[in-house]
Amino acid sequence: MARIGFIGLGNMGLPMSLNLRKVGHSVAGFDVSAAAVEKLVAGGGTAADAIKAAASNVDAVISMLPSGSEVREVYLKAGVLDAITPDTLLIDCSTIDVDSARQVSAAAREKGLAMLDAPVSGGVAGAQAATLTFMVGGTEQAFARAKPLLEAMGKTIVHAGPSGNGQAAKICNNMVLGISMIAVSEAFVLAERLGLDAQKLFEISSKSSGQCWSLTSYCPVPGPVPTSPANRDYQPGFTAAMMLKDLRLAQEAARSAGASTPLGAEAAALYGLFVGNGFGGRDFSGIIRFLRGT
Ligand code: NAD
Repeated sequence: MARIGFIGLGNMGLPMSLNLRKVGHSVAGFDVSAAAVEKLVAGGGTAADAIKAAASNVDAVISMLPSGSEVREVYLKAGVLDAITPDTLLIDCSTIDVDSARQVSAAAREKGLAMLDAPVSGGVAGAQAATLTFMVGGTEQAFARAKPLLEAMGKTIVHAGPSGNGQAAKICNNMVLGISMIAVSEAFVLAERLGLDAQKLFEISSKSSGQCWSLTSYCPVPGPVPTSPANRDYQPGFTAAMMLKDLRLAQEAARSAGASTPLGAEAAALYGLFVGNGFGGRDFSGIIRFLRGT
């Protein structure tokens, strides 16, 4: 069984670290919130009193932090790269910008350390149930070492290529999701105005060329898909604020790589308005209300 240092014990990190405990790994956790660390201790982990302490004498460091600035802070400024032995594997599971992911893994490589970017999809429910999907960037060797640990927290583990490619996969996928949710919402709003019943549009489009996940698994109108957040007043789910974060990361990456993503830009602008009007805590499928003008 491995010794793991876990940094960032929030909505995602805490259940992920507890799943590592459940299969028998030892977990020393650090978070700037003492209350978060206490929850890990209650679940059988130990408290590290500083970032360096969480990273010392462990086989792997796993982090689950809000954004690129915290990841750069933890790995580059707080001294994780100096605190660990060369055989310690570094795995950052946060969703961050591709450039920061590549910058931090290059700094690790310069010190002879293996680092993976391994963002997830599946949300808090997936973190609790250990059914997350991991999209992993880094070397084949580091991926092979990380796989058993990731399997304790997730169900689908995909190696996406070299450093940064895990983050690239995550933001490309979520750009599709953001755009397609707006497209499906616009279609339902137009159908309403044209006097076409939502259930009828669903029956037809779900079996036609308009079929997509936003329609058939996460339908933004109540009724056709009983499990979708539309049936519970758009309680998340996946919040609009999280979708906006990922769409902005996609735009940042598109600018940096010189890619043209006009619909991605429009989706980021629309979610920006939705969140700016106070709906950041709602499920992202609630954008249909905004498009409807209600
Ligand atoms: P969260 O805010 O609940 O947790 C982040 C934790 O990091 C907090 O407990 C915070 O105190 C801690 N933290 C912040 N700065 C720190 C530092 N310098 N050192 C140590 N700890 C620090 O966020 P979350 O919902 O757990 O999300 C974490 C990451 O996972 C984000 O990048 C998010 O985009 C991604 N993600 C979240 C979801 C979701 O549904 N919540 C789904 C997929 C991916």
